[in-house]
Amino acid sequence: MIEKPDPTTNVISLLSGGDVSKNICEGLKSFIVTTMPIPWELAKGRIGGNPIRIVFVDSMERERVEQQLEELPEFECVVAIGGGQAIDLGKYFSWKRKARLITIPSVISVDAFVTPAAAIRINRKVEYIGKSSPDPLVIDYDLIRTAPVDLNIAGVGDLLSIHTAVYDWEIAAKNGENQYQLHQKTVDQAYKILNSIIDHSEDIRNLTNKGIEAIVKGYMEVNRVCLPEGHYRIEEGSEHYLFYELEERTGRAYIHGHIIGLGIYIMSHLQKNKHERIVALMDKMRLKYQPKDMKIKPQTLIDSLHNLQNYVSERKDLWYTVIDQEAITSEWISCVTSELEF
Ligand SMILES: [Zn+2]
Repeated sequence: MIEKPDPTTNVISLLSGGDVSKNICEGLKSFIVTTMPIPWELAKGRIGGNPIRIVFVDSMERERVEQQLEELPEFECVVAIGGGQAIDLGKYFSWKRKARLITIPSVISVDAFVTPAAAIRINRKVEYIGKSSPDPLVIDYDLIRTAPVDLNIAGVGDLLSIHTAVYDWEIAAKNGENQYQLHQKTVDQAYKILNSIIDHSEDIRNLTNKGIEAIVKGYMEVNRVCLPEGHYRIEEGSEHYLFYELEERTGRAYIHGHIIGLGIYIMSHLQKNKHERIVALMDKMRLKYQPKDMKIKPQTLIDSLHNLQNYVSERKDLWYTVIDQEAITSEWISCVTSELEF
């Protein structure tokens, strides 16, 4: 089914259905593909047409990406196939060469397939560069279901984070910390997105077509709310800040939705914000969030929580959240970590 969503979702057109990527490139005059070996294996027999070049992601460092771009011939269209990095590389090329972008996510673990900017590393630090919109965004349910279930379900992490992030925004407003003025209308829109995800918990758990659609539409709605406002405060708050601390502490990569799930678990507890309810929902959807799923040791998490207030106060770019408001005591840390699985 082809749809023309509201342009503020950053999706020019959306093609969704079973096996809809089949022959999608048939008839395209000159196109390149950005991808990785595993998704390319899955997609190459489906998409039809003859790409003039296939570019595999090997690094997202800007120098390397620019070098790959320079070596490319003229093309009219970029077809980005895969997970976050393959899609971001396609977005970057499409933006730089002003070429049409067709996006075919093979997994929905992160929202790269709908956001305008590409995550590129400059001296190993991620920066968001450029602006592109897919035409069409191809949501092939069968292709997406070939990815590991846990990875696809991880996609709800950045939508369930609305639960803690909006609460943080409300705390900030109550304390007169208004980096971004709180609008009730935006809060209502955010809760509408969250409720739609909750309404589809069973479908998300089973990754039915409706479950996949709920996650994709959830991301598009987040864009519709956030892009005009110029910030993502409705889905980014204290649950992300704990992740930033842990990432810096351990120097490790995490599956984004899983580590955000852990953040939602811990921060909803600190917020006294319907903790049991959101944890029950994460369990119902089979979102992984336990430290044992990410090989985080008890002492690492305890040290991270002890340092969190210090960490956010040094990071001037972070917004006011529950971390600034509530005392993080040893008693609370042992209480909240005692029920987690390591
Ligand atoms: Zn996130």
